[in-house]
Amino acid sequence: MHPCLTCGACCTQYRVAFHWMESDEVSEGGVPAELTQRLDAHRLCMQGTYAPPIRCVALDADIGRYSRCTIHPRRPSVCREVDASWEFGAPSSQCDRARIAHGLAPLTPADWRWRDPAGNDDDRPDDNGNSPSSPPAPPIAA
Ligand code: SF4
Ligand code: SF4
Repeated sequence: MHPCLTCGACCTQYRVAFHWMESDEVSEGGVPAELTQRLDAHRLCMQGTYAPPIRCVALDADIGRYSRCTIHPRRPSVCREVDASWEFGAPSSQCDRARIAHGLAPLTPADWRWRDPAGNDDDRPDDNGNSPSSPPAPPIAA
């Protein structure tokens, strides 16, 4: 299983800020405006992420056990842009910091072997497209 589906740590760790143009008030299929709040003249943030304790209002999770983004197809760009550690062959400091903050071990290449079709144990996940549709991706700290 994709590690993000049993994690969700990053959705309770960072302010999720993005340009107001991403809102569905101005972009069809954009981020649901009713789940956002104004951050400054140019930016919105997800409700629940403005200040600690942070937990994105769109998150359905028991951190470390189960996690889903309830607006996954319409999540902000920042949530799409940060990879889980080693998903694409490199660590992610945001992923690692969020997991550590929740008492979870940082991901390693071994956490991605489930999608290695060759089972060749080469510490490199072979992205053959069989991974589930994207997991709840991490936000970027504002
Ligand atoms: S990106 Fe990292 S911290 Fe965020 S849900 Fe996935 S595994 Fe957890
Ligand atoms: S991926 Fe979804 S639940 Fe997580 S911070 Fe982004 S909008 Fe919120």
